[in-house]
Amino acid sequence: MSILRRFILHSDLNNFYASVECRLNPRLAKNAVIVVGDVEKRHGVVLAKNYIAKSCGVKTGDTVIEAENKCRDIAILSKVPARLWLYQRVSKIVKSIYLKYTDNVESFGIDEAWLDVSANAKSYAEAMELAEMIRQEVKETLGLTVSIGVSYNKIFAKLGSDLKKPDAITMITRGNFRERVWPLPANALLYVGHATEKRLTKMNIKTIGDLATTDVKTLQRVFGIMGTRLWEFANGLDNSPVQRWGDKDETKSIGNSVTCPKDLTNMDDVNTVIYTLAECVAMRLKREAMYCKEIQITIKNNRLESYERQCKLPYPTDTSKDIAESAIKLFVASNGLAEPVRALGIRLKDFSTDMQLSLLSDHTSITKQETLDKTIDKIRDKYGCYAIGRGNTLLDAELGDINPQAELHIIHPQYYRF
Ligand SMILES: [Mg+2]
Repeated sequence: MSILRRFILHSDLNNFYASVECRLNPRLAKNAVIVVGDVEKRHGVVLAKNYIAKSCGVKTGDTVIEAENKCRDIAILSKVPARLWLYQRVSKIVKSIYLKYTDNVESFGIDEAWLDVSANAKSYAEAMELAEMIRQEVKETLGLTVSIGVSYNKIFAKLGSDLKKPDAITMITRGNFRERVWPLPANALLYVGHATEKRLTKMNIKTIGDLATTDVKTLQRVFGIMGTRLWEFANGLDNSPVQRWGDKDETKSIGNSVTCPKDLTNMDDVNTVIYTLAECVAMRLKREAMYCKEIQITIKNNRLESYERQCKLPYPTDTSKDIAESAIKLFVASNGLAEPVRALGIRLKDFSTDMQLSLLSDHTSITKQETLDKTIDKIRDKYGCYAIGRGNTLLDAELGDINPQAELHIIHPQYYRF
């Protein structure tokens, strides 16, 4: 495959959960609609909203009470409990539409996917035509709208799908990316996380264009290899392939690991790393709308010997707290600190689509934890998964500014390993 003539689409279902609910119950559509994790609980948080709710100021991650306050006097607010099994089913139908156009369909969560259409498109005009056909087919088949970015790499295709929505197609080419992409804030770039953004701001790098025109050596000095990648992304130098459908379709496990810049010799540092990893895998699990029933940790010591331990979880979960606590238990039980720890990994396995069993356990505290996770995820969805801090470093303005252990918090994203 020539990397010179690639045509990549990134398709993003608009307000996915809320759109599905409105489609199934059209009377809802004239109201402000929020899809809520657990509508019975006052702690329930907004997982998705329609444009009317958005225009009232409702944000993903808001509590139900916040959403009620924002919509009061403006619109009737309909609260719909989330039906993840349904969204998954619809997502599969949408993917089956994509697969009519190419085998190279790579899911990015439940509502987004990249498509490499190079085999069927020889020009931007043809790629745009395919995007238009896909947009129409999804709309006619399911009554749902998508935003599609058309470009020559995955990074810009994803950016394109964010630029105009709903129900729109945006083209970013080698010829126009400087006009279209460079004026955008640096954090619009996939994987520019919150911490990275702050460090960039300090270097007076505010836009993607600033990033692209900064001397790559300067970026390397500050961010290491990641600096090179960010510079490449900003300049549209991204050759990463779109995976073939099926390669990643059935997610059998979700894992992240980190090699620590210094060996870990105490539980405080271990806890920090485990919580950071747990947040990242929990976010990815939630993107797949799954719950996990099994967890595995990998410990590598300073002699580079590694071993794994795993256990079943007491109930299916998707919260970072449950995952971190189980991982810490496993770590302690395996006497993990017998030697200095060089690297740690967490892998989640044995997925299910519902958490019914957890009704037997302390549901209130789970919901509270989900609220916290969702808030963190909301920030991460916006700023990317790249640089991750534990809740307090992200949410606390004072602590968030400088994080002496920032390097510990660099998690390799799923698609771009540095
Ligand atoms: Mg979407």
